[in-house]
Amino acid sequence: MPNYNTNNTKLESLVSLAKRRGFIFQSSEIYGGLASTWDYGPIGVELKRNVKEQWWKSFVTNREDIVGIDASILMHPSVWEASGHLNNFSDPLVECKKCKKRFREDMIESNSCPECNGELGESRQFNLMFKTFMGPIENESSIVYMRPETAQAMFVNFDNVQTTTRKKIPFGIAQIGKSFRNEITPGNFTYRTREFEQMEMEYFCAPQNDEKWYKYWIEFSLNWFISRGIRKDKLRIRKHTNNEIPHYSKGSSDIEFKFPWGWGELETISNRTDYDLKAHSKKSGKDLTYFDQINNERFFPYVIEPAMGADRSTLAFLSDAYDEENHKKEKRTVLRFHPEIAPITVAVLPLSRNEKLIPMSKKIYESLLGKFNVEYDDSQSIGRRYRRQDEIGTPLCITIDFETIEKDNSITIRNRDNMEQIRISTDNLLKGINDQLESIKNSYI
Ligand SMILES: [Zn+2]
Repeated sequence: MPNYNTNNTKLESLVSLAKRRGFIFQSSEIYGGLASTWDYGPIGVELKRNVKEQWWKSFVTNREDIVGIDASILMHPSVWEASGHLNNFSDPLVECKKCKKRFREDMIESNSCPECNGELGESRQFNLMFKTFMGPIENESSIVYMRPETAQAMFVNFDNVQTTTRKKIPFGIAQIGKSFRNEITPGNFTYRTREFEQMEMEYFCAPQNDEKWYKYWIEFSLNWFISRGIRKDKLRIRKHTNNEIPHYSKGSSDIEFKFPWGWGELETISNRTDYDLKAHSKKSGKDLTYFDQINNERFFPYVIEPAMGADRSTLAFLSDAYDEENHKKEKRTVLRFHPEIAPITVAVLPLSRNEKLIPMSKKIYESLLGKFNVEYDDSQSIGRRYRRQDEIGTPLCITIDFETIEKDNSITIRNRDNMEQIRISTDNLLKGINDQLESIKNSYI
């Protein structure tokens, strides 16, 4: 582990750094913003892409048994009838008879409105799916829903995928994509939003092996976070209590992260049993059983689902990486990202804008483009530029100075975590960078 000085990051520090350095902006900010919607800026988009890319590698491309899909957000309304979302995916709400505001029944402590003290009406179910209309006519028959989870696309494509890939169980289908839930109480920055991105995988297995794979995917997911640099003591597994388990699930466990406001869910691993495949078979009339050639039998596979939030995970990486330390009587803020997660891997910084330094600096920058996520910056004093790179968590800074030009073609590589600089010849630049990245990666093991 890199040496951390900060254990409890404040949410205000994260939000302010995220805006200052271009990680996350409020959506539609010039119009006063739209509640609980956020935009990733130039640095944030790289961070989130790295999170998704690492997930895709671990859950799809580096494995023989899992394939991916990329399905539509809008699906046939029957999907949500069959899955149970139309009837069950709702929160009980009570409406204030006086001010007409609605509240989640389970969040209300007394019989009167928390805002105006007015009388509250009977509780009613409020479906969390976003509704819209498809085509030019707005009536009952043109209603479609924005998907509240990506999972259903894996179930309705089960036969297509299995037939085209000829996968034998156990195998999985994965997808990264946006989902929408009309949450009554969003909040905590990008943690709970109504539009969010999911990284979900449905793992189809023999019914008698469900417990084995359920445990396997909990362990695998936990290790995924740790191997990308999240501190072990900020992660925990929490088994769902009986009244939290969703209608489709036999058992669920969360992987939780210690956010600035407390423990919060990053991922839920659920045993969805054969609920979804059975329901879609029944509703659509299409046989979604699996044929086991060895035992010559047909059955509905069970499904283990690790469902991770891409935005929440990104926020967890950001929050965990945040550190402050005193350096030369000044406060240094540094994001200690794992090199695979860091938005920028290498920054190329000429010591100054002196014209002698620029051509060589540009040449080095261009030689690294395409090999790493690399940034060139000659805008301010070198101290300020180091500080900026520390604040966006860039593991390595390469500095070109007069020794480079006038003496021996050597450059310095500065390590983000300990600020040590080594001098190497530009002939060994690639090896030098890779060695330094390796040593930072190794510090997480
Ligand atoms: Zn009221």
